[in-house]
Amino acid sequence: MSAARIPVIGIIGGIGSGKTAIANAVSEFVSVCRLDGDVIGHEVLRQESVREALRNHFGDVIFDNSGEVVRSKVADLVFGTEPAKQAARQQLESVVHPEIRNFIENQLKEIQDQQFCKLIIIDAALLLEAGWSPVCDAIVFLDVPEHLRLQRVKQRDWTEEQFHEREASQLPLKEKEQRADITINNGGDLQTAASKLSEWLHVRFPSQRVEAHT
Ligand code: ATP
Repeated sequence: MSAARIPVIGIIGGIGSGKTAIANAVSEFVSVCRLDGDVIGHEVLRQESVREALRNHFGDVIFDNSGEVVRSKVADLVFGTEPAKQAARQQLESVVHPEIRNFIENQLKEIQDQQFCKLIIIDAALLLEAGWSPVCDAIVFLDVPEHLRLQRVKQRDWTEEQFHEREASQLPLKEKEQRADITINNGGDLQTAASKLSEWLHVRFPSQRVEAHT
């Protein structure tokens, strides 16, 4: 008899809403395999075929002396509302999204085959935008007021302008929320938000034995 399929949970929300933080915190309640969109994105930028395609689109300006892609330079070219930046972002996405999707699908297959864990969490800022939601059994939206998210990402040395430019490149938050199965408020204590989410997962996926925090 084949093993049961492990549920895949997508975590979405605005920039700095705590997608990574909550994925880590939920790992305390259940054994979780994590697929982190940022990490996968970095991995994909190291692939030779991706670097070549990006060189064709953007030239040498986005590379350092050792031939690695400098992400901040790519960000300068693609984030913003000007038509040239939007066109550049589409070019970037046409190169990297299919590779990220391949990567995610391969990882999911391996995890499902090996049954490493009880839940799989995908934390990817562009989960909906890139069309990866069909691989998810449930989508969780993290709700955090903008001023708090801004305050949190400023700790990464982002400017307010960078925050708004990146946010503008994503789907409106209302639309993200509408496409989610549940909204969790992460504007307060992280552990409280993580235990609410684990309680919901406990009910939604009972066979996975997610500990319901009391
Ligand atoms: P991005 O959109 O850039 O991928 P993200 O949604 O993954 O970001 P995190 O990196 O998890 O967000 O969180 C942003 C910052 O906010 C981190 O410093 C994190 O520790 C902090 N943070 C997350 N949740 C909370 C919370 N409930 N209370 C206080 N700080 C929090």
